[in-house]
Formats: sequence, C-alpha cells, structure tokens
Amino acid sequence: MKTIGLLGGMSWESTQIYYAEMNRRVREKRGGHEAARILLFSANFAEIRELTDKQGWNAVGEYLGSAAVKLEEAGADMILMATNTIHVVADQIQNDLQVPFLHIATPLIEALKKDGRRKLALLGTQMTMESTFYRELLEVAGFEVWTPTPEDRGEVHRIIFDELTLGEVSPAAQDFFRALALKAQHAGAEGVILGCTELGLVLEARQSPLPVYDTAVLHARAAAEWALKD
Ligand code: GLU
Repeated sequence: MKTIGLLGGMSWESTQIYYAEMNRRVREKRGGHEAARILLFSANFAEIRELTDKQGWNAVGEYLGSAAVKLEEAGADMILMATNTIHVVADQIQNDLQVPFLHIATPLIEALKKDGRRKLALLGTQMTMESTFYRELLEVAGFEVWTPTPEDRGEVHRIIFDELTLGEVSPAAQDFFRALALKAQHAGAEGVILGCTELGLVLEARQSPLPVYDTAVLHARAAAEWALKD
C-alpha cells in the first residue's frame, strides 16, 4: 500500500473527515484491521489565515509547498490538500513535488460525469464561489455552474468561518443550507457541490432535496483508492 501525504488543518474540523474516510475506504476494500498509511501535516489554521491576510496567497503557497516537500521527504507517495479554497495555490504547491498531487476537483469531476450531471450548484467560501480558479475547472469539464445570490454567498461564507471551522453546527445553519439547496433546485441545478470541506457537517445528503457531492469525502476516498492501486 502506498503512503498518502495529507496537508490538513484547514480547518481540522474537516481534516478529521478525511482521516476517517481514508481509513474507512481501505477497510471497506481490504477488511479486518487494514487501514490507510497516512502522513499528516496539520497546519495551524490561525497562522494560515494570518499569512493570507498579511502576506497574500503567494506566501501561503510557499508555506504549504514546503510542508508538502517535507511530507514527500518523509515518505509520502502522493500529496493532497484538504481544502478547496487554498487550491488557488495548487500549482505552486505541485511545482516542487516529484510525487503526484491529487487535486480536489479531479474526483469531483469524475463523480459528476459518472452520474451524468450537467448543471450544479457550487457552494463554498466566497473565493471558491466567486473567483475563476475553481469554477473554470468545472466549466472546462462541461458543467454549468450555479451560485447563490451575493447575499446568500455572504451568509455561506460567514457560516463557514464563524461556525463550521470553529466546530459549531447550528440548527439555523442547517435550515439555511437546506433552503439554499431548494433554491438551487428551483434554478435547475441537478446536484449541490459541497465545495468547502466543512460543508458536509451542515448539509447531510439525507436532508438535501438535491444529490450532494461532498468534496471532502470524494477527495479522501480517491486518495485511499489510489494508495491501494498496484
Ligand atoms: N475548508 C474550506 C474549503 O474547503 C475553507 C477554509 C479555507 O481553507 O480557507 O475551502
């Protein structure tokens, strides 16, 4: 089995989803006490946020790029990063790596194609919903992307940073996301992309009127499957 190198801690609330899902997937495939081999770099999210605010994305890319190289030196056979937003510096992180980097959008796009979806709601941080780095990957792959109104986007972003990444899941936030999924359905979306790794905490598949594509779960599973390949 190959060793997975995970850049996590952004936030750790979602990294635990990755940890559980990678191990669960290996157990599903192999049974018994079989579990994933994982090297984890868990960042201090406060430091990452401060770096972003004070020095910009380039500095974040450098910081995480050097963490990724350390994971590789420690024996990781591939690297993945447990956040959608910070994939804005994915190229910078990949640059110094010899081992493959599994982009978070890759297993997402595979799942959407497999299910024959065409129009999707994209939910995530304002950066993920509003700038092109993420959206374009979906559009180039042939999908139509729907995003909420500016007001709703602001509320999605606020809930991510004021609640979910701090470990809080409020009934009000659950209601808000269910209502948002309904709005997406009325706008013709065929599924909801949870394009923020914490969103699975607040919109569970069974509560959603539309099929849910949880990037954290899809990404973690893809990593585990890759690690099991010959
Ligand atoms: N985990 C989040 C994401 O998937 C947001 C936190 C961040 O990395 O800025 O985008």
